[in-house]
Amino acid sequence: MANVEEKDTVIIGAGPGGYVAAIRAAELGQKVTIIEKEYFGGVCLNVGCVPSKALIQAGHRYREAKDATVYGISTKDVELDFAKTQAWKNKNVVERMTSGVQMLLKKHKVEIIKGEAFLDNNEQLRVMPAGPRQFMDNGGGQTIKFKNLILATGSRPVEIKGFKFGGRVLSSTGLLNIEELPKKLVIVGGGYIGSELAGSFSDLGSEVTILEGTDQIIPNFERDMVSIIEKHLQKKGIKIVTSAMAKSVQDNGDSVDVTYAVDGQETTINADYVMVSVGRRPNTDNFGLEMTDVELTDRGLVKVDEQGRTSVKNIYAVGDITAGPALAHKAFFQGKTAAGAISGKNTANDYIGIPSVCFNDPEMASVGLTADEAKAQKREVKISKFPFAGNARAVSLDNMDGFVKLISDKNTGTVLGGQIVGPNASDLISEVSILVNCQLNVEDVALTIHPHPTLGEPIQEAADMAMGFPTHI
Ligand SMILES: Cc1cc2nc3c(=O)[nH]c(=O)nc-3n(C[C@H](O)[C@H](O)[C@H](O)COP(=O)(O)OP(=O)(O)OC[C@H]3O[C@@H](n4cnc5c(N)ncnc54)[C@H](O)[C@@H]3O)c2cc1C
Repeated sequence: MANVEEKDTVIIGAGPGGYVAAIRAAELGQKVTIIEKEYFGGVCLNVGCVPSKALIQAGHRYREAKDATVYGISTKDVELDFAKTQAWKNKNVVERMTSGVQMLLKKHKVEIIKGEAFLDNNEQLRVMPAGPRQFMDNGGGQTIKFKNLILATGSRPVEIKGFKFGGRVLSSTGLLNIEELPKKLVIVGGGYIGSELAGSFSDLGSEVTILEGTDQIIPNFERDMVSIIEKHLQKKGIKIVTSAMAKSVQDNGDSVDVTYAVDGQETTINADYVMVSVGRRPNTDNFGLEMTDVELTDRGLVKVDEQGRTSVKNIYAVGDITAGPALAHKAFFQGKTAAGAISGKNTANDYIGIPSVCFNDPEMASVGLTADEAKAQKREVKISKFPFAGNARAVSLDNMDGFVKLISDKNTGTVLGGQIVGPNASDLISEVSILVNCQLNVEDVALTIHPHPTLGEPIQEAADMAMGFPTHI
């Protein structure tokens, strides 16, 4: 029998949920151990949010450098060295951020164990060196008995029938790390990941086709927002095929043939690579969770209460393995809540003001209720929509497609939700998140002096509109 080490708070997974939980738990005086098999910073920092935003930025720079004649700027021979772009993203962005996470953990005296955790029961786990699975029935590895455990094992890409990952059939991870720029790229799945990467690779120079199964790309955003994004993607030259069923792919070694059907009519397109981004699966099925009494939902997510506690009282779960939007900032928040709960604090997760962002061009962001959701809750709503075309800053940036929409209660003026599509929507949405979270009303915004000329003014203008006194429209 291997030696059993006794530990206090153990965390499996050093993604946004796990590493933030570790830091907060340490700040609250707990003795913390974190176990990570592959990625410090998780999917988000290594193969998700951060590298995707880096490539999006590189694409914008390249496109703008080639196409600035409207400002009287013309350039010759603008070239992209994709290997350098990737090296910049890997070294200056991903490595910097992921080593930062390890530094923060060390600063907070969190014990770091590199390896793969497997649960034995409600109180004990084993850590094996990461890599190919080993026989585990001989009690190998490091055995740890924990007082409290936070599960933060995240998610992985879903594979669909007929599209096995490998060779030229890529997941988002494969595309983000691709060494050569595809001349032609097919993307199966036009959600936020698919459409962001479509825009980015198109900016970098690929010819992109999106195959989306439903009748609208990015289906979780409202149609009036998505139609603006669609127009921009198409203007870049991206072909969008909706109601398309991806059927199969043939990897020819030097190219792929992707077959899809629309209304039963099959079409095959040839491309250099295909990337499949049709969703993500929670990592709850591969590390012995079935050896515990932790209950799962039908969809394989861990059932948790508002503090993140599972059906086993000393085990918590955070991030993509729990219900709700699979977003990094949700995982951050849950990590803090769980760490607080273990320290006896009266913490709770409350997602009323949680924003979702799509980093397209222009960006798109939403928080709280949409008008339809508010109406479904039998609220009388006021919709006030102010276009960026009426905003001096957006006009001077030559980036004026889009709007700010506030959804407020007709009787009380309380802001129930907001949607922004336009320049810097990802940053602007935080103001609306505060309004929704703190249940402020449109008058609070209207009476807050916003600097001029800035992209934030349309939020104030939308509030003026809701009160019946619009100025710039
Ligand atoms: C391409 C892409 C772009 C994205 N862009 C955004 C964005 O812009 N904004 C946003 O909010 N979200 C974005 N996301 C989603 C975001 O990355 C996830 O919501 C977030 O990473 C979830 O955090 P987590 O801590 O739950 O899990 P993860 O980040 O998945 O981390 C889980 C960690 O646990 C480790 N692990 C798993 N099992 C074990 C085990 N048995 N033992 C040891 N370690 C283990 C894994 O190696 C991993 O490092 C994006 C995702 C992708 C794929």
